[in-house]
Amino acid sequence: MLDTLLIFGASGDLTSRYLMPALARLHQAGQLPARFRIVGLARDAWDTDAFRRHLEQQMAQAPPAILASARAAVLAWTEYRQVDVTDRRQVAEALGGIANPLVAYLALPPALFKPAVEALAAGRLPKGSKLVLEKPFGTDLASAQELNRLLHDTFPEPDVFRLDHFLGKQTVQNILGFRFTNRIFEPLWNTQHIERVEIIWDETLTAAGRASFYDGTGALRDMIQNHLLQLLALIGMEPLQSLNERQLRDRKVDVLRAVRRLSPDEVARCTLRGRYGRGAIGEREILPYIKEGGVDPARRTETFAQVVLVIDNWRWAGVPFLLRTGKALNRDRRVIAIHFKPVPHLAFGQQSQPQPNVLTIELDPDRIGLAINVNAPGELFALDRVELESPCGSGGLPAYARLLLDVLQGDLTLSIRDDEAEESWRIVEPILESWAEDRVPLLEYPAGSAGPPEAEQTVLFGKAS
Ligand code: NAP
Repeated sequence: MLDTLLIFGASGDLTSRYLMPALARLHQAGQLPARFRIVGLARDAWDTDAFRRHLEQQMAQAPPAILASARAAVLAWTEYRQVDVTDRRQVAEALGGIANPLVAYLALPPALFKPAVEALAAGRLPKGSKLVLEKPFGTDLASAQELNRLLHDTFPEPDVFRLDHFLGKQTVQNILGFRFTNRIFEPLWNTQHIERVEIIWDETLTAAGRASFYDGTGALRDMIQNHLLQLLALIGMEPLQSLNERQLRDRKVDVLRAVRRLSPDEVARCTLRGRYGRGAIGEREILPYIKEGGVDPARRTETFAQVVLVIDNWRWAGVPFLLRTGKALNRDRRVIAIHFKPVPHLAFGQQSQPQPNVLTIELDPDRIGLAINVNAPGELFALDRVELESPCGSGGLPAYARLLLDVLQGDLTLSIRDDEAEESWRIVEPILESWAEDRVPLLEYPAGSAGPPEAEQTVLFGKAS
Protein backbone atom coordinates (compact mmCIF):
# COMPACT_ATOMS: atom_id res chain seq x y z
CA MET A 1 0.00 0.00 0.00
CA LEU A 2 1.27 3.51 -0.83
CA ASP A 3 1.95 5.60 2.27
CA THR A 4 2.44 9.13 0.89
CA LEU A 5 -0.44 11.34 -0.28
CA LEU A 6 0.11 14.72 -1.93
CA ILE A 7 -3.05 16.81 -2.14
CA PHE A 8 -2.90 19.67 -4.64
CA GLY A 9 -5.65 22.16 -3.72
CA ALA A 10 -5.39 21.26 -0.03
CA SER A 11 -6.98 24.49 1.21
CA GLY A 12 -10.22 23.74 -0.69
CA ASP A 13 -13.60 22.29 0.14
CA LEU A 14 -13.00 18.75 -1.15
CA THR A 15 -9.92 18.29 1.05
CA SER A 16 -11.43 19.45 4.32
CA ARG A 17 -14.97 18.14 3.80
CA TYR A 18 -14.24 14.75 2.22
CA LEU A 19 -10.60 13.71 1.92
CA MET A 20 -9.37 14.42 5.44
CA PRO A 21 -12.46 12.90 7.15
CA ALA A 22 -12.11 9.88 4.85
CA LEU A 23 -8.47 9.45 5.91
CA ALA A 24 -9.50 9.72 9.57
CA ARG A 25 -12.19 7.08 8.99
CA LEU A 26 -9.65 4.76 7.34
CA HIS A 27 -7.21 5.25 10.20
CA GLN A 28 -9.99 4.52 12.69
CA ALA A 29 -10.79 1.31 10.80
CA GLY A 30 -7.12 0.30 11.02
CA GLN A 31 -6.78 0.42 7.22
CA LEU A 32 -3.83 2.84 6.93
CA PRO A 33 -0.16 2.03 7.54
CA ALA A 34 1.22 3.02 10.95
CA ARG A 35 3.44 5.63 9.28
CA PHE A 36 1.58 7.78 6.78
CA ARG A 37 2.43 11.12 5.23
CA ILE A 38 0.00 13.75 3.91
CA VAL A 39 1.47 16.75 2.10
CA GLY A 40 -1.03 19.55 1.43
CA LEU A 41 -0.21 22.02 -1.34
CA ALA A 42 -1.96 25.28 -2.23
CA ARG A 43 -1.10 28.92 -2.88
CA ASP A 44 -1.90 30.29 0.60
CA ALA A 45 1.12 31.55 2.50
CA TRP A 46 0.55 29.06 5.31
CA ASP A 47 2.98 26.97 7.31
CA THR A 48 2.16 23.48 8.56
CA ASP A 49 0.71 24.78 11.84
CA ALA A 50 -1.66 27.16 10.05
CA PHE A 51 -2.71 24.35 7.69
CA ARG A 52 -3.40 22.04 10.61
CA ARG A 53 -5.44 24.71 12.38
CA HIS A 54 -7.51 25.22 9.23
CA LEU A 55 -8.13 21.49 8.85
CA GLU A 56 -8.89 21.02 12.53
CA GLN A 57 -11.55 23.72 12.39
CA GLN A 58 -13.11 22.30 9.24
CA MET A 59 -12.96 18.68 10.39
CA ALA A 60 -14.79 19.52 13.61
CA GLN A 61 -17.90 19.35 11.40
CA ALA A 62 -17.09 15.80 10.25
CA PRO A 63 -19.68 13.09 11.02
CA PRO A 64 -19.66 12.12 14.72
CA ALA A 65 -18.81 8.52 13.75
CA ILE A 66 -15.26 9.77 13.18
CA LEU A 67 -13.53 9.83 16.54
CA ALA A 68 -11.59 12.91 17.71
CA SER A 69 -8.56 10.65 18.27
CA ALA A 70 -8.62 9.57 14.61
CA ARG A 71 -8.88 13.20 13.44
CA ALA A 72 -5.95 14.16 15.66
CA ALA A 73 -3.82 11.26 14.42
CA VAL A 74 -4.40 12.19 10.79
CA LEU A 75 -3.72 15.89 11.46
CA ALA A 76 -0.38 14.95 12.99
CA TRP A 77 0.61 13.32 9.66
CA THR A 78 0.00 16.49 7.66
CA GLU A 79 2.53 19.02 6.40
CA TYR A 80 2.06 22.01 4.12
CA ARG A 81 3.93 23.42 1.13
CA GLN A 82 3.06 26.67 -0.61
CA VAL A 83 2.89 25.93 -4.33
CA ASP A 84 1.33 27.35 -7.44
CA VAL A 85 0.70 24.29 -9.62
CA THR A 86 1.05 26.34 -12.78
CA ASP A 87 4.71 26.93 -11.87
CA ARG A 88 6.78 23.86 -12.79
CA ARG A 89 9.76 24.95 -10.76
CA GLN A 90 7.67 25.27 -7.60
CA VAL A 91 6.08 21.86 -8.17
CA ALA A 92 9.49 20.24 -8.77
CA GLU A 93 10.81 21.82 -5.57
CA ALA A 94 7.78 20.58 -3.62
CA LEU A 95 8.45 17.04 -4.82
CA GLY A 96 12.05 17.28 -3.71
CA GLY A 97 13.00 14.87 -0.96
CA ILE A 98 10.05 12.52 -1.56
CA ALA A 99 11.51 9.21 -2.71
CA ASN A 100 8.58 6.83 -2.10
CA PRO A 101 5.97 6.20 -4.78
CA LEU A 102 3.09 8.48 -3.91
CA VAL A 103 -0.47 9.42 -4.71
CA ALA A 104 -0.84 12.87 -6.29
CA TYR A 105 -4.45 13.92 -5.73
CA LEU A 106 -5.64 16.84 -7.86
CA ALA A 107 -8.27 18.52 -5.64
CA LEU A 108 -8.03 21.47 -8.00
CA PRO A 109 -10.42 23.36 -10.28
CA PRO A 110 -10.61 21.27 -13.50
CA ALA A 111 -9.08 24.15 -15.50
CA LEU A 112 -5.82 23.44 -13.64
CA PHE A 113 -5.64 19.72 -14.44
CA LYS A 114 -3.55 20.36 -17.57
CA PRO A 115 -0.83 22.56 -16.03
CA ALA A 116 -0.78 20.37 -12.92
CA VAL A 117 -0.31 17.14 -14.88
CA GLU A 118 2.40 18.74 -17.02
CA ALA A 119 4.19 20.10 -13.94
CA LEU A 120 4.02 16.70 -12.22
CA ALA A 121 5.39 14.96 -15.30
CA ALA A 122 8.22 17.50 -15.55
CA GLY A 123 8.92 17.11 -11.81
CA ARG A 124 9.40 13.32 -12.25
CA LEU A 125 7.24 11.53 -9.71
CA PRO A 126 8.81 8.43 -8.14
CA LYS A 127 8.08 5.30 -10.23
CA GLY A 128 4.82 3.57 -9.27
CA SER A 129 3.12 6.83 -8.26
CA LYS A 130 -0.60 7.28 -8.95
CA LEU A 131 -2.51 10.31 -10.18
CA VAL A 132 -6.07 11.04 -9.00
CA LEU A 133 -8.57 13.33 -10.71
CA GLU A 134 -12.09 14.14 -9.62
CA LYS A 135 -15.01 14.37 -12.00
CA PRO A 136 -15.73 16.30 -14.22
CA PHE A 137 -13.36 14.70 -16.74
CA GLY A 138 -13.70 17.44 -19.32
CA THR A 139 -16.73 19.54 -20.17
CA ASP A 140 -17.63 17.81 -23.44
CA LEU A 141 -16.36 14.95 -25.62
CA ALA A 142 -13.54 16.95 -27.24
CA SER A 143 -12.17 18.22 -23.92
CA ALA A 144 -12.44 14.73 -22.35
CA GLN A 145 -10.44 13.31 -25.29
CA GLU A 146 -7.89 16.08 -24.94
CA LEU A 147 -7.54 15.41 -21.21
CA ASN A 148 -7.08 11.69 -21.88
CA ARG A 149 -4.40 12.40 -24.51
CA LEU A 150 -2.57 14.62 -22.03
CA LEU A 151 -2.78 11.97 -19.31
CA HIS A 152 -1.58 9.23 -21.65
CA ASP A 153 1.39 11.35 -22.72
CA THR A 154 2.53 11.53 -19.13
CA PHE A 155 1.02 8.68 -17.06
CA PRO A 156 0.21 5.08 -18.09
CA GLU A 157 -3.58 4.49 -17.84
CA PRO A 158 -3.18 1.97 -14.94
CA ASP A 159 -1.66 4.79 -12.85
CA VAL A 160 -4.63 7.13 -13.42
CA PHE A 161 -7.62 7.13 -11.09
CA ARG A 162 -10.67 9.09 -12.28
CA LEU A 163 -12.95 9.25 -9.27
CA ASP A 164 -16.70 9.55 -9.30
CA HIS A 165 -17.62 9.31 -5.63
CA PHE A 166 -20.93 7.62 -6.54
CA LEU A 167 -18.94 4.50 -7.29
CA GLY A 168 -17.65 4.45 -3.71
CA LYS A 169 -21.16 4.33 -2.33
CA GLN A 170 -22.41 1.08 -0.86
CA THR A 171 -25.14 1.24 -3.51
CA VAL A 172 -22.78 0.09 -6.21
CA GLN A 173 -21.86 -3.03 -4.32
CA ASN A 174 -25.55 -3.49 -3.53
CA ILE A 175 -26.64 -3.32 -7.17
CA LEU A 176 -24.01 -5.86 -8.19
CA GLY A 177 -24.75 -8.14 -5.23
CA PHE A 178 -28.48 -7.91 -5.76
CA ARG A 179 -28.35 -8.57 -9.50
CA PHE A 180 -25.81 -11.35 -9.57
CA THR A 181 -26.44 -13.37 -6.42
CA ASN A 182 -30.21 -13.78 -6.75
CA ARG A 183 -31.31 -16.24 -9.37
CA ILE A 184 -34.89 -14.96 -9.46
CA PHE A 185 -34.26 -11.54 -11.03
CA GLU A 186 -31.72 -12.13 -13.80
CA PRO A 187 -34.09 -14.16 -16.06
CA LEU A 188 -36.52 -11.21 -15.92
CA TRP A 189 -33.86 -8.53 -16.42
CA ASN A 190 -34.55 -7.74 -20.06
CA THR A 191 -36.94 -6.26 -22.60
CA GLN A 192 -39.27 -9.29 -22.38
CA HIS A 193 -40.24 -8.44 -18.82
CA ILE A 194 -39.20 -4.87 -18.07
CA GLU A 195 -41.38 -2.00 -19.25
CA ARG A 196 -39.11 0.87 -18.27
CA VAL A 197 -36.37 1.93 -15.88
CA GLU A 198 -36.23 5.22 -13.98
CA ILE A 199 -33.06 6.56 -12.38
CA ILE A 200 -33.98 9.56 -10.27
CA TRP A 201 -31.93 11.94 -8.13
CA ASP A 202 -34.32 14.65 -6.90
CA GLU A 203 -33.05 17.08 -4.29
CA THR A 204 -34.60 19.69 -2.03
CA LEU A 205 -31.12 21.26 -1.91
CA THR A 206 -30.87 24.50 -3.87
CA ALA A 207 -27.81 25.90 -5.63
CA ALA A 208 -27.29 28.46 -2.82
CA GLY A 209 -23.65 28.62 -1.74
CA ARG A 210 -22.48 26.70 -4.82
CA ALA A 211 -24.20 28.77 -7.49
CA SER A 212 -21.10 30.27 -9.08
CA PHE A 213 -19.68 26.77 -9.65
CA TYR A 214 -23.07 25.30 -10.58
CA ASP A 215 -23.88 28.00 -13.12
CA GLY A 216 -20.99 26.88 -15.31
CA THR A 217 -22.09 23.27 -15.10
CA GLY A 218 -25.85 22.63 -14.83
CA ALA A 219 -27.81 19.52 -13.93
CA LEU A 220 -26.99 17.55 -17.09
CA ARG A 221 -23.22 17.87 -16.72
CA ASP A 222 -23.20 17.79 -12.92
CA MET A 223 -25.30 14.66 -12.37
CA ILE A 224 -26.50 12.87 -15.49
CA GLN A 225 -23.29 12.76 -17.53
CA ASN A 226 -21.47 10.96 -14.75
CA HIS A 227 -23.36 9.70 -11.67
CA LEU A 228 -26.66 8.70 -13.28
CA LEU A 229 -25.03 7.17 -16.36
CA GLN A 230 -22.89 5.08 -14.01
CA LEU A 231 -26.06 3.77 -12.38
CA LEU A 232 -27.52 3.05 -15.83
CA ALA A 233 -24.39 1.08 -16.70
CA LEU A 234 -24.61 -1.00 -13.52
CA ILE A 235 -28.28 -1.78 -14.08
CA GLY A 236 -27.80 -2.47 -17.79
CA MET A 237 -24.55 -4.42 -17.91
CA GLU A 238 -24.14 -8.12 -18.63
CA PRO A 239 -23.23 -10.48 -15.74
CA LEU A 240 -19.57 -10.63 -14.76
CA GLN A 241 -17.57 -13.79 -14.97
CA SER A 242 -15.67 -12.53 -11.94
CA LEU A 243 -15.47 -9.16 -10.22
CA ASN A 244 -12.25 -7.49 -11.21
CA GLU A 245 -11.15 -4.16 -12.60
CA ARG A 246 -11.01 -5.26 -16.25
CA GLN A 247 -14.35 -7.06 -16.30
CA LEU A 248 -16.41 -4.49 -14.44
CA ARG A 249 -15.11 -1.63 -16.56
CA ASP A 250 -15.42 -3.59 -19.82
CA ARG A 251 -19.03 -4.53 -19.09
CA LYS A 252 -19.95 -0.93 -18.15
CA VAL A 253 -18.36 0.42 -21.33
CA ASP A 254 -20.27 -2.17 -23.41
CA VAL A 255 -23.56 -0.74 -22.14
CA LEU A 256 -22.53 2.90 -22.56
CA ARG A 257 -21.47 2.16 -26.15
CA ALA A 258 -24.88 0.68 -26.85
CA VAL A 259 -26.76 3.76 -25.58
CA ARG A 260 -28.19 5.46 -28.65
CA ARG A 261 -26.87 8.88 -29.57
CA LEU A 262 -30.08 10.88 -29.81
CA SER A 263 -30.97 12.67 -33.04
CA PRO A 264 -32.01 16.35 -32.74
CA ASP A 265 -35.62 15.22 -33.13
CA GLU A 266 -35.25 12.66 -30.30
CA VAL A 267 -33.59 15.29 -28.10
CA ALA A 268 -36.61 17.54 -28.68
CA ARG A 269 -39.07 14.73 -27.81
CA CYS A 270 -37.18 12.91 -25.08
CA THR A 271 -35.42 15.54 -22.98
CA LEU A 272 -36.61 18.29 -20.67
CA ARG A 273 -34.77 21.06 -18.91
CA GLY A 274 -35.95 23.47 -16.26
CA ARG A 275 -34.82 26.19 -13.88
CA TYR A 276 -36.34 26.89 -10.50
CA GLY A 277 -38.08 30.16 -9.77
CA ARG A 278 -39.26 31.70 -6.51
CA GLY A 279 -40.96 29.32 -4.11
CA ALA A 280 -40.81 27.69 -0.71
CA ILE A 281 -39.55 24.38 0.61
CA GLY A 282 -41.42 23.74 3.85
CA GLU A 283 -41.20 27.00 5.78
CA ARG A 284 -38.14 28.12 3.85
CA GLU A 285 -38.58 30.88 1.25
CA ILE A 286 -36.43 30.14 -1.77
CA LEU A 287 -35.01 32.79 -4.08
CA PRO A 288 -35.23 32.17 -7.81
CA TYR A 289 -32.08 30.48 -9.12
CA ILE A 290 -31.21 33.52 -11.20
CA LYS A 291 -31.01 35.66 -8.04
CA GLU A 292 -28.31 33.46 -6.47
CA GLY A 293 -24.91 35.14 -6.25
CA GLY A 294 -22.64 34.18 -9.13
CA VAL A 295 -25.45 33.23 -11.53
CA ASP A 296 -25.50 34.77 -15.00
CA PRO A 297 -29.13 34.45 -16.19
CA ALA A 298 -27.98 34.77 -19.81
CA ARG A 299 -26.22 31.40 -19.53
CA ARG A 300 -29.65 29.76 -19.14
CA THR A 301 -28.21 27.02 -16.93
CA GLU A 302 -30.67 24.27 -16.07
CA THR A 303 -31.30 23.13 -12.48
CA PHE A 304 -33.55 20.29 -13.65
CA ALA A 305 -32.76 17.78 -16.38
CA GLN A 306 -34.64 14.75 -17.60
CA VAL A 307 -33.54 12.54 -20.47
CA VAL A 308 -34.92 9.31 -21.85
CA LEU A 309 -32.31 7.00 -23.34
CA VAL A 310 -32.50 3.66 -25.07
CA ILE A 311 -29.91 0.93 -25.12
CA ASP A 312 -29.68 -0.60 -28.56
CA ASN A 313 -28.77 -4.17 -27.72
CA TRP A 314 -30.47 -7.58 -27.51
CA ARG A 315 -31.24 -7.32 -23.78
CA TRP A 316 -32.68 -3.82 -23.68
CA ALA A 317 -34.07 -2.99 -27.14
CA GLY A 318 -37.19 -0.86 -26.70
CA VAL A 319 -36.88 -0.31 -22.91
CA PRO A 320 -36.80 3.41 -22.08
CA PHE A 321 -34.34 4.46 -19.37
CA LEU A 322 -35.47 7.74 -17.83
CA LEU A 323 -32.73 9.68 -16.02
CA ARG A 324 -33.80 12.70 -13.99
CA THR A 325 -32.29 15.10 -11.51
CA GLY A 326 -33.35 18.44 -10.14
CA LYS A 327 -32.61 20.97 -7.42
CA ALA A 328 -35.02 22.83 -5.12
CA LEU A 329 -37.72 20.16 -5.54
CA ASN A 330 -40.41 19.23 -3.05
CA ARG A 331 -38.69 16.09 -1.78
CA ASP A 332 -35.45 14.18 -1.73
CA ARG A 333 -35.85 11.07 -3.81
CA ARG A 334 -32.90 8.96 -4.88
CA VAL A 335 -34.12 5.84 -6.48
CA ILE A 336 -33.76 3.38 -9.31
CA ALA A 337 -37.21 2.03 -10.18
CA ILE A 338 -37.52 -1.04 -12.40
CA HIS A 339 -41.07 -1.20 -13.75
CA PHE A 340 -42.05 -4.68 -14.89
CA LYS A 341 -44.60 -5.39 -17.61
CA PRO A 342 -48.17 -6.32 -16.68
CA VAL A 343 -49.13 -9.99 -16.44
CA PRO A 344 -49.99 -11.38 -19.89
CA HIS A 345 -53.45 -12.69 -18.98
CA LEU A 346 -56.17 -11.86 -16.44
CA ALA A 347 -57.30 -15.11 -14.85
CA PHE A 348 -59.61 -13.84 -12.12
CA GLY A 349 -62.09 -11.92 -14.19
CA GLN A 350 -60.81 -8.57 -12.94
CA GLN A 351 -62.20 -5.53 -14.62
CA SER A 352 -58.83 -3.85 -14.80
CA GLN A 353 -55.20 -4.88 -15.03
CA PRO A 354 -53.52 -5.30 -11.63
CA GLN A 355 -50.68 -2.84 -11.16
CA PRO A 356 -47.41 -4.22 -12.51
CA ASN A 357 -44.55 -5.06 -10.14
CA VAL A 358 -42.02 -2.38 -9.36
CA LEU A 359 -38.59 -3.06 -7.91
CA THR A 360 -37.07 -0.03 -6.21
CA ILE A 361 -33.45 0.39 -5.24
CA GLU A 362 -33.23 3.47 -3.03
CA LEU A 363 -29.93 5.19 -2.46
CA ASP A 364 -28.73 7.10 0.60
CA PRO A 365 -29.91 5.37 2.74
CA ASP A 366 -29.91 2.16 0.79
CA ARG A 367 -33.14 0.20 0.73
CA ILE A 368 -34.64 -2.34 -1.63
CA GLY A 369 -38.39 -2.67 -2.17
CA LEU A 370 -40.64 -4.80 -4.33
CA ALA A 371 -44.26 -3.84 -4.95
CA ILE A 372 -46.46 -6.92 -5.48
CA ASN A 373 -50.16 -7.76 -5.59
CA VAL A 374 -51.79 -10.10 -3.06
CA ASN A 375 -55.35 -11.09 -2.39
CA ALA A 376 -57.26 -8.63 -0.29
CA PRO A 377 -59.45 -9.89 2.55
CA GLY A 378 -63.16 -9.87 1.83
CA GLU A 379 -64.25 -9.96 -1.76
CA LEU A 380 -63.04 -12.94 -3.78
CA PHE A 381 -59.95 -12.07 -5.81
CA ALA A 382 -59.92 -8.41 -4.88
CA LEU A 383 -56.31 -7.28 -4.82
CA ASP A 384 -54.14 -5.49 -2.31
CA ARG A 385 -50.87 -3.80 -3.20
CA VAL A 386 -48.08 -4.49 -0.73
CA GLU A 387 -44.47 -3.40 -0.61
CA LEU A 388 -41.81 -5.85 0.52
CA GLU A 389 -38.93 -3.72 1.66
CA SER A 390 -35.70 -3.88 3.54
CA PRO A 391 -32.83 -1.57 4.38
CA CYS A 392 -29.53 -2.90 3.16
CA GLY A 393 -25.83 -2.34 3.13
CA SER A 394 -25.34 0.17 5.94
CA GLY A 395 -22.21 0.29 8.06
CA GLY A 396 -19.56 -0.01 5.35
CA LEU A 397 -16.88 2.56 4.63
CA PRO A 398 -18.18 5.97 3.44
CA ALA A 399 -17.70 6.59 -0.30
CA TYR A 400 -14.52 8.67 -0.16
CA ALA A 401 -12.89 6.33 2.35
CA ARG A 402 -13.64 3.33 0.11
CA LEU A 403 -12.22 5.10 -2.96
CA LEU A 404 -9.13 6.45 -1.21
CA LEU A 405 -8.34 3.00 0.14
CA ASP A 406 -8.60 1.60 -3.40
CA VAL A 407 -6.26 4.30 -4.72
CA LEU A 408 -3.66 3.62 -2.00
CA GLN A 409 -3.89 -0.09 -2.78
CA GLY A 410 -3.68 0.51 -6.55
CA ASP A 411 -7.09 -1.09 -7.18
CA LEU A 412 -8.76 0.47 -10.24
CA THR A 413 -12.06 -1.43 -10.07
CA LEU A 414 -14.14 1.56 -8.92
CA SER A 415 -12.28 4.17 -10.96
CA ILE A 416 -13.58 5.46 -14.31
CA ARG A 417 -11.51 4.31 -17.28
CA ASP A 418 -10.54 6.65 -20.16
CA ASP A 419 -12.99 5.13 -22.67
CA GLU A 420 -15.80 5.11 -20.10
CA ALA A 421 -15.43 8.88 -19.52
CA GLU A 422 -15.50 9.51 -23.27
CA GLU A 423 -18.53 7.27 -23.92
CA SER A 424 -20.51 9.16 -21.27
CA TRP A 425 -19.77 12.44 -23.05
CA ARG A 426 -20.70 10.89 -26.41
CA ILE A 427 -24.16 10.13 -24.97
CA VAL A 428 -24.88 13.61 -23.58
CA GLU A 429 -23.20 15.62 -26.34
CA PRO A 430 -26.21 15.84 -28.73
CA ILE A 431 -28.34 16.95 -25.77
CA LEU A 432 -25.82 19.64 -24.79
CA GLU A 433 -25.72 20.84 -28.40
CA SER A 434 -29.50 21.06 -28.80
CA TRP A 435 -29.93 22.75 -25.45
CA ALA A 436 -27.17 25.26 -26.22
CA GLU A 437 -29.06 26.16 -29.40
CA ASP A 438 -32.28 26.53 -27.38
CA ARG A 439 -34.04 23.82 -29.38
CA VAL A 440 -35.57 22.55 -26.11
CA PRO A 441 -37.37 25.19 -24.02
CA LEU A 442 -36.02 26.07 -20.58
CA LEU A 443 -39.11 25.52 -18.38
CA GLU A 444 -39.54 27.39 -15.13
CA TYR A 445 -40.79 25.53 -12.06
CA PRO A 446 -41.49 26.95 -8.60
CA ALA A 447 -38.94 25.97 -5.95
CA GLY A 448 -40.55 23.38 -3.71
CA SER A 449 -42.64 21.86 -6.51
CA ALA A 450 -42.25 18.48 -8.23
CA GLY A 451 -40.45 20.15 -11.15
CA PRO A 452 -41.86 21.24 -14.49
CA PRO A 453 -45.34 19.71 -14.90
CA GLU A 454 -44.29 18.61 -18.40
CA ALA A 455 -41.91 16.09 -16.78
CA GLU A 456 -44.90 14.06 -15.64
CA GLN A 457 -46.14 13.64 -19.20
CA THR A 458 -42.86 12.59 -20.73
CA VAL A 459 -43.13 10.67 -23.93
CA LEU A 460 -40.99 7.58 -23.58
CA PHE A 461 -40.17 6.85 -27.21
CA GLY A 462 -43.84 6.72 -28.08
CA LYS A 463 -45.18 5.38 -24.75
CA ALA A 464 -46.71 7.72 -22.14
CA SER A 465 -44.97 7.25 -18.78
P1 NAP B 1 -12.16 24.64 -4.14
O1 NAP B 1 -12.78 24.67 -2.80
O2 NAP B 1 -12.33 25.77 -5.06
O3 NAP B 1 -10.60 24.37 -3.93
C1 NAP B 1 -9.67 24.50 -4.97
C2 NAP B 1 -8.27 24.40 -4.41
O4 NAP B 1 -7.35 24.61 -5.48
C3 NAP B 1 -7.95 25.43 -3.35
O5 NAP B 1 -7.17 24.80 -2.36
C4 NAP B 1 -7.13 26.47 -4.10
O6 NAP B 1 -6.30 27.12 -3.19
C5 NAP B 1 -6.36 25.54 -5.02
N1 NAP B 1 -5.77 26.26 -6.15
C6 NAP B 1 -6.38 27.08 -7.03
N2 NAP B 1 -5.49 27.53 -7.93
C7 NAP B 1 -4.30 27.00 -7.60
C8 NAP B 1 -2.99 27.09 -8.14
N3 NAP B 1 -2.72 27.80 -9.24
N4 NAP B 1 -2.02 26.39 -7.53
C9 NAP B 1 -2.26 25.66 -6.44
N5 NAP B 1 -3.47 25.52 -5.89
C10 NAP B 1 -4.48 26.19 -6.45
O7 NAP B 1 -12.63 23.34 -4.97
P2 NAP B 1 -13.13 21.93 -4.37
O8 NAP B 1 -14.59 22.02 -4.11
O9 NAP B 1 -12.23 21.52 -3.29
O10 NAP B 1 -12.99 20.99 -5.64
C11 NAP B 1 -11.75 20.47 -6.07
C12 NAP B 1 -11.99 19.50 -7.21
O11 NAP B 1 -12.84 18.45 -6.77
C13 NAP B 1 -12.70 20.12 -8.40
O12 NAP B 1 -12.21 19.51 -9.57
C14 NAP B 1 -14.16 19.75 -8.19
O13 NAP B 1 -14.87 19.71 -9.40
C15 NAP B 1 -14.00 18.36 -7.58
N6 NAP B 1 -15.13 17.95 -6.74
C16 NAP B 1 -15.46 18.67 -5.61
C17 NAP B 1 -16.51 18.24 -4.82
C18 NAP B 1 -16.91 19.00 -3.58
O14 NAP B 1 -17.95 18.69 -3.00
N7 NAP B 1 -16.15 19.97 -3.13
C19 NAP B 1 -17.23 17.09 -5.15
C20 NAP B 1 -16.86 16.36 -6.30
C21 NAP B 1 -15.81 16.80 -7.08
P3 NAP B 1 -5.71 28.58 -3.41
O15 NAP B 1 -6.61 29.31 -4.41
O16 NAP B 1 -5.71 29.17 -2.08
O17 NAP B 1 -4.36 28.31 -3.94
